[in-house]
Amino acid sequence: MKKYERIRRKLLNRRDEIEGRLNKVDQDILHTNGAPNPDSGEQAIERENDDVLEALGGIARSELEQINIALERMERNEYGICTLCKKAISAERLKAIPYAERCIKCADKDVEDTF
Ligand SMILES: [Zn+2]
Repeated sequence: MKKYERIRRKLLNRRDEIEGRLNKVDQDILHTNGAPNPDSGEQAIERENDDVLEALGGIARSELEQINIALERMERNEYGICTLCKKAISAERLKAIPYAERCIKCADKDVEDTF
């Protein structure tokens, strides 16, 4: 059994979940766009709903991307290694953020740099 098999399964489950949710969001957008409401007030509300749905879709899509990157990193046996200092990322950190690419020290450093 691979070292990160359990996390890999977790990521795959999460990916399925997000993909399912994204499909639903897309259907909701299609549904509201496909049936224009003649009442302009209602239309504004529908547009607002679409914005919310699209924002949610954006968050889900970026998480999906991170999951895919983590899975690719597993394939290349790079998973769990900090992309900056090349040291191992702690198991606790990976448990909390399975798609973390940096160790806690480098992640902290990055936050400091942005300030
Ligand atoms: Zn690091």
